[in-house]
Amino acid sequence: MEQISSCPNCTKKSVEIFYTVDPVPVHSVMLVSTREEALHFPAGKITLGFCNACGFITNTSFEESKMNYSPKCEETQGFSPTFQCFHDRLAKDLIERYGLRDKSVLEIGCGKGEFISMLCAMGGNRGIGFDPAFVPQRRPVQGGDAVEFIEDFYSEKYVHIKADFIACKMTLEHIPDTHQFVSMVRRAVGENFDTIVFFQVPDMSRVLKDVAFWDVYHEHCSYFTASALRNLFVTSGFDVVDVWTDYDDQYLMITARPTKRLLSDANSLIPPSRTEVNAVRSFTCEAERRIHLWQHAVNHLKQEGQHVVIWGSGSKGVAFLSALGAHVDDGCIEYAVDINPYRKGCFMPGTAQEIVEPAFLSAYRPEVVIAMNSIYIPEIGADLKRHGIRATVMPIEAIEAPV
Ligand SMILES: [Zn+2]
Repeated sequence: MEQISSCPNCTKKSVEIFYTVDPVPVHSVMLVSTREEALHFPAGKITLGFCNACGFITNTSFEESKMNYSPKCEETQGFSPTFQCFHDRLAKDLIERYGLRDKSVLEIGCGKGEFISMLCAMGGNRGIGFDPAFVPQRRPVQGGDAVEFIEDFYSEKYVHIKADFIACKMTLEHIPDTHQFVSMVRRAVGENFDTIVFFQVPDMSRVLKDVAFWDVYHEHCSYFTASALRNLFVTSGFDVVDVWTDYDDQYLMITARPTKRLLSDANSLIPPSRTEVNAVRSFTCEAERRIHLWQHAVNHLKQEGQHVVIWGSGSKGVAFLSALGAHVDDGCIEYAVDINPYRKGCFMPGTAQEIVEPAFLSAYRPEVVIAMNSIYIPEIGADLKRHGIRATVMPIEAIEAPV
């Protein structure tokens, strides 16, 4: 494997390249309003590097200058009952575990503000949410005046704002210099040794184990296993309180407290396990094999005259279609279904499928629905039934024998 420069997570020089996808759309949750725009969407490249010292995985080709996190980013999963239930349970659990009542909470990358509003409403807390993609018109009712939103990236200029609890969900994976970023959060915490920080990221152990090539996309320049995440916090001046997974093991969570140690402790790195190293080494070959099987399967279905749609137009859908090279004009997959009404009528970046709502399927009548996230299969089944559609629902993991 090719060696590159130092690791942005632990600063050691032990990063090796192991997986490449080129081209890919630079954004996958951006609302694209025309087919033309979708076809000419800015492209980037994925070149994943693995750090042998801390287990971190980084896209060494990531181009931050191409990213534009504007209100046109429609990332919310809040329209799914399954997700809402998880979000609700997580907020209650954090409030219970860390006594978050009548406290100040801060959320970095709060999206449309659902989670911080829940923390404030459920625990009687006061909150500040940061996100350049926050949309004031969609401010959650829950939380009321107790929550303030700042339409900006959280950066050095805000480190003077103190909080008892700092949350950062599904954001760190978008940040290339993870050590620099978490060290900034440590500076923000300062001498407030009772502050708890909570971070949530996609769990790369699961992506490696399942060879989930649809979970690798350009916005995500940073990928963590539990040990890589732990290593990051330890070397950035925190003591780790807990590390766990949730949401069918798709999400990896960590809570940490600031340590009084002043220097980062690069010698306390936990190296990646043998299983992780082996999974990284076999990923490329296995991903290519599964992509070929899917290409073969959708071509075969098209030849049989069957209509195939994907369900889920977010990042997984974009990564899946891009990896398969399943362009709308090939006719194998013509539509992407989504329950988020803000996505209806938009187009998939790069491959240009139109995004439709479930009701559209009553007329289109697909024979096969590929679920971009298996956790939603019960919801998808119920929606199909409601619209009188008898289609086979295939989980995205059904690669071994997809037809
Ligand atoms: Zn590293």
